[in-house]
Amino acid sequence: MDLKNKLNSISTLIGNTPLVNIVCEVMGRKINVFSKCEMYNLSGSIKDRCVINILDNAIMCGLVDRNTSIFESSSGNTGISLASICAYIGVKANIVLPKNVSSERKKIIAMYGANVFETESGIRETLNEMVKNKSNVFLLKQFENIENVNAHYFGTGIEIINQCRTAPDCFCAGVGTGGTFMGVGKRLKKEWDKIELFALQSENVNLLNFGNGGEHKLQGLATEFTPDLYNKNLHHEVVSLNDNDCIYVAQQLAKKLGLGVGITSGANLLGVLKVCYEKNFDSGVTVFPDDNKKYLSTALSKEINPSKFAKNIKLIRTYVL
Ligand code: PMP
Repeated sequence: MDLKNKLNSISTLIGNTPLVNIVCEVMGRKINVFSKCEMYNLSGSIKDRCVINILDNAIMCGLVDRNTSIFESSSGNTGISLASICAYIGVKANIVLPKNVSSERKKIIAMYGANVFETESGIRETLNEMVKNKSNVFLLKQFENIENVNAHYFGTGIEIINQCRTAPDCFCAGVGTGGTFMGVGKRLKKEWDKIELFALQSENVNLLNFGNGGEHKLQGLATEFTPDLYNKNLHHEVVSLNDNDCIYVAQQLAKKLGLGVGITSGANLLGVLKVCYEKNFDSGVTVFPDDNKKYLSTALSKEINPSKFAKNIKLIRTYVL
């Protein structure tokens, strides 16, 4: 089987994820939230959509063949996804990781047979240095590759339109590379011109207003720089969230509804509830990017002291659509 057909043969394991409807109450107000369960993708996260679409396009353009070495710098889901998909199609994946990444993550990537390189200096610079004089290499470049946005414009966005049927009042999503927010946001706005868009970040940074970076606990969302794919041409507002509140909401999703999600899923649900509460909206849509298993050594498994607002969120029941 040629590489393109091989890649296409796993496309049934990526995308077309279930949509859940979660009925919530905030300070006595009922809010309806819809969310895509992205942990059901092949390697367990939303990044499979981005990785398969970038590789598919690269193979089509003749940039990747069986002998190509694929490189990416990633401390999280993109590395795991690339390692998994490359193992499936039989191409070598090389992942550059920062030294401080948790051992679970390093082990997961290595278990897929990818080469793992750890660095103490900047991961992007290390990556560029590594490939400088090499031939037949391909860099994913998830932060600038438009195929990342297209994966969500033509995939996640259309799926949401088909599964929700009627327009929710808002779409909210945390920004890591910006692929999800830009792609889904643009597609939903085209279908439903009244839907309002909200990009989410940790309140420890201000990257979505092109301000400061910094450390935060919402692993997967932007920390150091504003991603190239994120821009203000898509009309939207920025909402900043308290890290502990996001973690608390993720914990509640597991405890009250049995949905074992990662930290940014808590952030996305909190974002929708905050926006709906403040703007008097009835409903919103978002994504749950991954599940809780990569967060065993993080604050997600520890007791959290949330704000009064977060404490007043009630997750009442959920339906799978
Ligand atoms: N949550 C998690 C757990 C992620 O790994 C990512 C991707 N970095 C995101 C959210 C954000 O997705 P995107 O890169 O599409 O902005």
